[in-house]
Amino acid sequence: MMGVFIINIFKRLAMVMRLSVKFIVIVVVSILLIISAIVLFYKPTYAVYLNDELIGYTSDKSGLQAKINTYMESGDSDGVAFAQIDSVPEYELCLLKKGIVTNEDEIYAKVTENGTKYYKYYAITDDKKEKYYLENFKDAEKVIQELKEKDSNNQSDLAIVEKYDTKTKKFTSVEKCVAGLYEEKPQVITYASTSYGDTVSSGYTDLGISFVTPTTGIITSRFGSRESIRSSGHRGIDIAGSTGTPIKAVAAGTVVTSTYNSSYGYYIRISHGNGVETLYAHCSQLLVSVGDTVSQGQVIAKMGSTGNSTGPHLHLEVSKNGVLYNPQNYVY
Ligand SMILES: [Zn+2]
Repeated sequence: MMGVFIINIFKRLAMVMRLSVKFIVIVVVSILLIISAIVLFYKPTYAVYLNDELIGYTSDKSGLQAKINTYMESGDSDGVAFAQIDSVPEYELCLLKKGIVTNEDEIYAKVTENGTKYYKYYAITDDKKEKYYLENFKDAEKVIQELKEKDSNNQSDLAIVEKYDTKTKKFTSVEKCVAGLYEEKPQVITYASTSYGDTVSSGYTDLGISFVTPTTGIITSRFGSRESIRSSGHRGIDIAGSTGTPIKAVAAGTVVTSTYNSSYGYYIRISHGNGVETLYAHCSQLLVSVGDTVSQGQVIAKMGSTGNSTGPHLHLEVSKNGVLYNPQNYVY
């Protein structure tokens, strides 16, 4: 009797459990169907905050974020090269909110309006100094090209430098840049050869060294001037003083000539390296010999009036690679 009762209880229990399992399966399947429907038909929408202030909604978070990233990395079409933004937006998922209007463009404008914009432009430099600014590389190249075609004297010193700044510069037109940068080549006059230096240049060249003044006195004849005493333009400058006034080397170097000739009288030529030479003529006395090394300011001779000269003076010449330049570019 007792045994049958226990068996019946077990049978009932088994039936109840079977029903429960069915019920649970139905519930789970329904939930899964509802979730699938939400995932399929419901687009997640995000509330966007900037500095804790709600600035709008987007259902395209990744697209909006990509647009902002592109702006920071490569700027926009208004000349911005790249940018930093003061604060990045924060996104908060909002579920099943009704009546939300998305406004990605407004959000983008608000996020990008505060920050630092870097503009890209091009500087034309002459001897490493910035001269003009141009908006694009093509125009900058055009300036350089035109100056090359015009054979501008400074063409080898010109360069284009890419610049970034938080402000745009005042841009100059190609024409104005070319006009402003053009330098005429100095005239080179060819003289009959004497002891050295066939050509005299009215231009300036950087010698790469600085000179000290060689003597005291007054300049009585300038570079290039023509006078009855000479048949051609003056190869140097004359500094008149009294006989015996010390003459100093304008820079350190090696004595390459220390001799006498009928026009220069007693004279000295010093090589300063890199093709730079100086010459001191009409001396009354020479104090150094060929091969001597001299220091800057060392007394090398005494002023006189030897050779083709009408009174005591120093005739000073400065040359580079055999071309004579105005000594007054470097001394006095
Ligand atoms: Zn002279």
